[in-house]
Amino acid sequence: MSSATLTIDLDAICANWRALDAQSTSETAAVVKADAYGLGADRVARALAKAGARTFFVAIAEEGAALRQALGPGPVINVFSGHMAGDADMIGDMDLVPMINSLDQMIRHVEALPGHPFGVQLDSGMNRLGMEPAEWAATREVALSQAPTVLMSHLACADDPDDPMNRQQLECFRDMTADTGVPLCFANTGGVLMGPEFHFDLTRPGIGLYGGLPFADAQPVVTLDIPVIQCRDLEPGETVGYANTFTATRPTRIATVAAGYADGIHRAMGAKTHMLADGAPCPLAGRISMDLIGVDVTDLGYDPKSLQLLGREQGIDVLADNAGTIGYEILTALGSRYTRRYLGG
Ligand SMILES: *Cc1c(COP(=O)(O)O)cnc(C)c1O
Repeated sequence: MSSATLTIDLDAICANWRALDAQSTSETAAVVKADAYGLGADRVARALAKAGARTFFVAIAEEGAALRQALGPGPVINVFSGHMAGDADMIGDMDLVPMINSLDQMIRHVEALPGHPFGVQLDSGMNRLGMEPAEWAATREVALSQAPTVLMSHLACADDPDDPMNRQQLECFRDMTADTGVPLCFANTGGVLMGPEFHFDLTRPGIGLYGGLPFADAQPVVTLDIPVIQCRDLEPGETVGYANTFTATRPTRIATVAAGYADGIHRAMGAKTHMLADGAPCPLAGRISMDLIGVDVTDLGYDPKSLQLLGREQGIDVLADNAGTIGYEILTALGSRYTRRYLGG
């Protein structure tokens, strides 16, 4: 096989969902936006629905429509971007629930789809989406008269439980939702981990399901095995790859593997990253190219058929650190050229 293989463990995703669900008495939804953080929303959501998830969140209506096709009728599909112009038919036909972000969206929604369910997104300080306190004060009465299904807000700093912003947002969300009688939804993965005060009626973890920080106890979900195309011997002084950033200091064996930055393997991770042959780490040699990476396999003593970049030994957050980014970006950057293999579900 010439393509690299991305293996996605659906049972691990479900186990992570159950572990986060066990931390609260509220309902636990699942965030499957951006194709379930790059892992395949159809397969992931179907596995989670089987495991008991009844509510899903996506970023935009198109994602919701695709998800409805995959899940069929029944599960609740909430859309963070709310009711955008031109989306009324999709929202209506596909039974999506927009999280209304503004008075304009509110008017658009009740005019186009009177009686159709909606939630309201409130801005408690992140200044990204949702109504700010003044706008909410003006909209609140009309909105509540239409019986929203949920009031939600989003934490800006939940990956750091000690950040004072978390409590400020909690207070703001409490103030804005007091005496509404509507189910409340506040916690992403980090919010779930911060404890019951943050849980309200519905939690909505994303990254923790997929094995990423801040859920340190998550089961790893992805492995990435990349086939070796060719191996060669270098004399001391010979170099590897663009701009000669690797120079052999001893007789060296280099394996060239079939993936690169076009597959989401960020160039910036090169210097600190290795690949594994049956658990033995082999350092990258030279720059990561678009479709190819050189690996120093001298100390292995044999030519491996394939090398592993992601797995139990080296997870998404290690690669993220090496690249100066976050696990979310490592996952969502994973390319479309991989052969995808699903375990369990
Ligand atoms: C992405 C997202 C989530 C999920 O956050 P994680 O940190 O991945 O758990 C929850 N709510 C909103 C509004 C989001 O955009």
